[in-house]
Amino acid sequence: MSGPDLDLSRVWLVDPASGREGPGEIVVTDGILEAVTWLEGADADGIDDQGVIVVPGFIDLHTHLREPGNEDAETVATGLAAAAHGGFTTVVAMPNTAPALDEPSVLGRILGAAASSGSPVELLANGAVTVGRAGETLAALGELADAGVVGFSDDGSPVRSASILRNALAYAGALGLPIVDHPEDVTQTAGAEMGDGVVATVLGLRGWPVAAEATSVARAIAMLAEVLPDVPGARLHLTHVSTGESLALIRLAKARGWPVTCDITPHHLALTDEWVAGARRFAWDAVDADGVARDPWADGALLAAPYAASTRVNPPLRCAEDAMACLAALRDGTADAIATDHAPHAAVDKAVEFGEAANGISGIETAIGLVLAAVDAGELPLARAIAALTTGPALILGSRSRRGGAAGLVEGAPADLVVIDRSASWTVTAAGLASRGKNSPLLGMDLPGRVLVTLAGGRIAYESTDPG
Ligand SMILES: [Zn+2]
Repeated sequence: MSGPDLDLSRVWLVDPASGREGPGEIVVTDGILEAVTWLEGADADGIDDQGVIVVPGFIDLHTHLREPGNEDAETVATGLAAAAHGGFTTVVAMPNTAPALDEPSVLGRILGAAASSGSPVELLANGAVTVGRAGETLAALGELADAGVVGFSDDGSPVRSASILRNALAYAGALGLPIVDHPEDVTQTAGAEMGDGVVATVLGLRGWPVAAEATSVARAIAMLAEVLPDVPGARLHLTHVSTGESLALIRLAKARGWPVTCDITPHHLALTDEWVAGARRFAWDAVDADGVARDPWADGALLAAPYAASTRVNPPLRCAEDAMACLAALRDGTADAIATDHAPHAAVDKAVEFGEAANGISGIETAIGLVLAAVDAGELPLARAIAALTTGPALILGSRSRRGGAAGLVEGAPADLVVIDRSASWTVTAAGLASRGKNSPLLGMDLPGRVLVTLAGGRIAYESTDPG
């Protein structure tokens, strides 16, 4: 089978693996990245990072594919197509399917679905921590590790009990795999509807406290510290961290040298709780010069109807100060990765009262747009943003990914890269999303950065047919 050819001259290359960005050229021959050439002097004149950029394929540590069990919301095939449209060439599926991915046969089913989809996007998966994700008995972690899972998570829920979390960190650590925890103290969030704060009060919705996340983060870090002396390989990854309080705890744990990593979603760094009220401005436009959240009612920022179910997500959209803390954590390296928490839902599960709606945003296709909006606003350097989508998650996956713990523009390897036109914007529409989940608060909005081509494992995963 012959692979694609691609010859791009005078583009902007970003390669976090080699720590370089700048003007360059790439040649792909028969699917192999034949040449990466960095241009200097007069050859580089007139090339900047505002036009076509070429970056390594993105890695998503947190994707919900809904198969098996909820194929109305997404299938492996549609989820991988959505990933490729968003520039992702490796995705890690979460195990909260029905049945849960708590034994090797379920992994076999989704890998089979990926193979028959024909998609070249690499599909990896986390196994469940507990049987049926019920929080009571540890799943057969060793068998799941032998079958090829890249970590363990009860995502959708936290690992319920601290003692099970401790055992899981020890077992998984001995297997060389991380526990991927969804930090939430469910005793504090029962009945909660949206992020706690002024907006929730005005809207009359029950607030979801910051402490529900921070206390769960603190618990997980404390369990890790207890396990580490006996199991030096123990590793904790905290996913979709969304508050400044949680990030302060993670910053401290990292300063102590503990093996804690975390990811932040695009929606938690760019959107805020005022979106539930109908605002449609980004976090950096929602704070004043002192970094304090503005009043969306006083500002005339409300453009959409309130209570849109597409803005309901777990963890909830937080206040603007928390979103700015997420951006700061990405800049200073406290946050290792940007992960989408792509959570497609069938329309029926969102067409209900706000507090009853399913949690989640179909976000894998809009991730790069939100990240580039943050870059355009000066909130995130481009190279750091790309690193959080490539080398950051690659290090967490290590050798379990076919990309071997790295994600670079590597000459002689099967091409795994994304070509993005930063000078072009695109309008998010339900029809334009490859995902079956149309649950996005960004529908109708323009986002910067059009993905032109995604190559995964030396094959074409996505190619824009839009001549514009
Ligand atoms: Zn989660």
